[in-house]
Amino acid sequence: MISITFNFSNLNCFELQTSSDIVIVGGGLGGLLCGALLAKEGKKVVVLEKNKQLGGSLQSFGVDGKLFESAVHYMGSLQKGQTLFKIFNYLDIIDSISLKRLDLDCFDQIIFGNKSYALAQGYENFIETLSVDFPHQRENLVNYIREIKTVCSHFPLYNMRMGSLSEKLKVTHFSLKEKMEALISDNDLRQILVGNHLLYAGNYESTPFYIHALIENSYIESSWKCQMGSIQIAKCLQEIIHQNGGQVLRNKQVTNMVEQNGKLDHVETSDNETYFAKQFISNVHPAYTYAMLDSKMVKPITKKRIQATPNTPAALMINISLHPESILYRNHNIYLHKQTNVWLDFQQPNDENPNSFGIFFYQDAQHPKYARGLSILTYMAGETFREWEHTFHTTTSGQKRDMAYEKRRRHSQAVSSTRFQAYCRGCRKL
Ligand SMILES: Cc1cc2nc3c(=O)[nH]c(=O)nc-3n(C[C@H](O)[C@H](O)[C@H](O)COP(=O)(O)OP(=O)(O)OC[C@H]3O[C@@H](n4cnc5c(N)ncnc54)[C@H](O)[C@@H]3O)c2cc1C
Repeated sequence: MISITFNFSNLNCFELQTSSDIVIVGGGLGGLLCGALLAKEGKKVVVLEKNKQLGGSLQSFGVDGKLFESAVHYMGSLQKGQTLFKIFNYLDIIDSISLKRLDLDCFDQIIFGNKSYALAQGYENFIETLSVDFPHQRENLVNYIREIKTVCSHFPLYNMRMGSLSEKLKVTHFSLKEKMEALISDNDLRQILVGNHLLYAGNYESTPFYIHALIENSYIESSWKCQMGSIQIAKCLQEIIHQNGGQVLRNKQVTNMVEQNGKLDHVETSDNETYFAKQFISNVHPAYTYAMLDSKMVKPITKKRIQATPNTPAALMINISLHPESILYRNHNIYLHKQTNVWLDFQQPNDENPNSFGIFFYQDAQHPKYARGLSILTYMAGETFREWEHTFHTTTSGQKRDMAYEKRRRHSQAVSSTRFQAYCRGCRKL
């Protein structure tokens, strides 16, 4: 999220005509959460979302009358006293979201071939569970958890307190590889500890350790599923903005963010509307934000650098609606690596035969022992769909992608599904 602030001294007549304090570009989790917090603090907020559907990656959708998640299959730190609990509690939405806690002794199961390991909730439980298989690494696990906690303590907002950038800078320069190799001497255990890197599209050499630490820490604290779909959260946040006099406007694609006299003045949307505000927050990808920024204050070289920054690999999600009572429900997630090298998909990208899969289960309310559906996540090269990067298929755009796209999409799904079926057949044995 990029926050663009400016000084208030030069209010001109345009700004006086507008009623909003803050315009937020993008109605994903970041934009909506920010909007809800600011609205609750008395700010007049307008959120502009380009799609008809709110939530960005925080969306749920129906297939065969069954609910599936676009991305957010589980969340961390929602136990009383933990950070996300505090935020949701402050917003008074904690009771409006139906949460189910994942298994205490295993929120993520990491599988390599025939071997299976559990990542457990609670720091002690996490250490003790892995120490059963790696007794000689117990002390290292203690140090690993200590390091995770230390790194997290340097992020003020993560701990709901004020602080400074310099605090974070003390812990942000280590790579995942550097830290893991310094902390854990057993290669198998190192692989297990990063076995759920699909969560952050991690790359061993270039992903900073702090990304791993912040994410793992929240799940080790406590792990939860949204039973009625994560879209519940987006709806609750939208409601708070509305209740506090703000607006969440859909089908509003921001095309320009315009600076005047050294400060951001207004944004323009593709339907030729203009939104003035005292402050603007962009919750869209930095490269797109800089591309929209019509300002002499940002040097072309800065724009170029931001736009040239490589993205993480893309993901392919396959959602499967299951026949009743066909696959047992697991109250945890599975990260399956066919070969004992969790980085294989990065070292030898192979869309036709991925090595790593994240598997997320949906419980069948009628037959709670069984799953009603599965979501399967794998990496894929963004290049695979590069020729369609400027095409869209949304209700707002009204366009459809060509047949070649459909053919490629179906091929990718079929290939990954076939590779995955071998696992499904053995599923009941696990
Ligand atoms: C495959 C996958 C799985 C994940 N699994 C999990 C998980 O299990 N648990 C978890 O906690 N997190 C998970 N995440 C991460 C989580 O989904 C994201 O961190 C979070 O949803 C990001 O929210 P955001 O608001 O920053 O961005 P986004 O969700 O990308 O929101 C950006 C919004 O801006 C809108 N927008 C873009 N351009 C414009 C424009 N020009 N004008 C107006 N609007 C615009 C977009 O339409 C979108 O709605 C996952 C992410 C992915 C991709």
